[in-house]
Amino acid sequence: MVEAAFQRLEAQAGFEPRPVQRDMARFVCERLKGKTSGMVEAPTGVGKSLAALLPAIAYSLQQKKRIVISTYTNVLAEQYWYNDLPLALSLFPNAPSVALAMGRNRYACLAALHGKPLKDSRPEVVRFLHEWAGVAQYGTEAELYEFLRRKAIPDAFRYRLWETIATPPACRAKACSFYSKCFYYETRRRIAKANIVITNHALVLSDAILRLSTDDKVDLLGDYDFLIVDEAHDLLDAAANALEFDLDEKLLETLIALAATLSNQIGEALASDNPPAGFTGSVNGLVQGFAARCRDAFEMATIPPLPRNGVVTRVASTDLAQHPAVASILQSELQAQIIAAVDALRAEIATLFRELGQTCRDFKGELTEGQQAAVEETITQFRYNFAQIHQNLGRLKEPAEGICWLEPTDKGWKAC
Ligand code: SF4
Repeated sequence: MVEAAFQRLEAQAGFEPRPVQRDMARFVCERLKGKTSGMVEAPTGVGKSLAALLPAIAYSLQQKKRIVISTYTNVLAEQYWYNDLPLALSLFPNAPSVALAMGRNRYACLAALHGKPLKDSRPEVVRFLHEWAGVAQYGTEAELYEFLRRKAIPDAFRYRLWETIATPPACRAKACSFYSKCFYYETRRRIAKANIVITNHALVLSDAILRLSTDDKVDLLGDYDFLIVDEAHDLLDAAANALEFDLDEKLLETLIALAATLSNQIGEALASDNPPAGFTGSVNGLVQGFAARCRDAFEMATIPPLPRNGVVTRVASTDLAQHPAVASILQSELQAQIIAAVDALRAEIATLFRELGQTCRDFKGELTEGQQAAVEETITQFRYNFAQIHQNLGRLKEPAEGICWLEPTDKGWKAC
């Protein structure tokens, strides 16, 4: 099948046969057939994307397997999607189902597009955005800017526009009135059915972290049989970015803001349904209590003034602990302070969700079935985000390997 695809490719006008590309495709075929891993390096200009795509498409068609192809950035993933994939698919008599997967914030949120913040924008921008939402295929930032460019909208109008309409990190999902048309959730549905998924390293890593933090209950890419990593030399950097997690003022504010958004989203999910008096007030009260106790937990850590370059507080392997550069700045007694703050914050997250569950039960008789479902859906969606923070806090306490350290910041300290 791959050989026939190459013959069709080479029969195209102006196509230059590239033996290295064929060798590389053969290598990928062997790995897929043998279900083994492998690594291949090829110079620029060889046509690596097609050398990965042709075997992936053929194998997926023959064996009905799901294959994820990951590259470093969204831009590179879009190049695959818009340039290489259509060409590759045109070389086969049948096409597998395909999807492009990017992070949530790469898709426009219809609730935001029709919501309050946008009403404050210039009327002509709002009009164009609504027009675009009606014709957009995937609702991505790239599509929007292409649309605005064709409409000759001046750059100044676009300033911070995407921030206002990008899909938020968590939302009320099925409880949202735009859910059936939502660009992001439509993409998730497409991904779940696709045999070939094009994505980037950050999303592959986020998928793995989400599976880990939810005991495999939630994922972003669905189960897949093979992963092809293009630009694999950048995977380490992508992993460092995805796994990087600091406990500091900023994280504290993020946690509190997330809880406030959860409370707002519960309110909005019920807004048109005449919720029982006292329900949203109780939820607000829980969130305010959560915010105050999280602040206390953070401030409870008594960290002495730190040297500019920080100190190491925990080392996960004895060999590393004995390294002179590490041993000279090790202050393991401070780890107890970090553990206390981490434990308190994790306990607060657990308490918030326990209390939310209890509040729902307390109001069960007063909420309609639809209201109950909307609240539960909203809580579930936010639970995943809190679960990731909970999991990351745990890594600060007990790193599987490497070191934990403390460093000074403008506002105090940061545990990394
Ligand atoms: S489901 Fe979420 S992302 Fe989609 S439109 Fe509604 S609020 Fe926005």
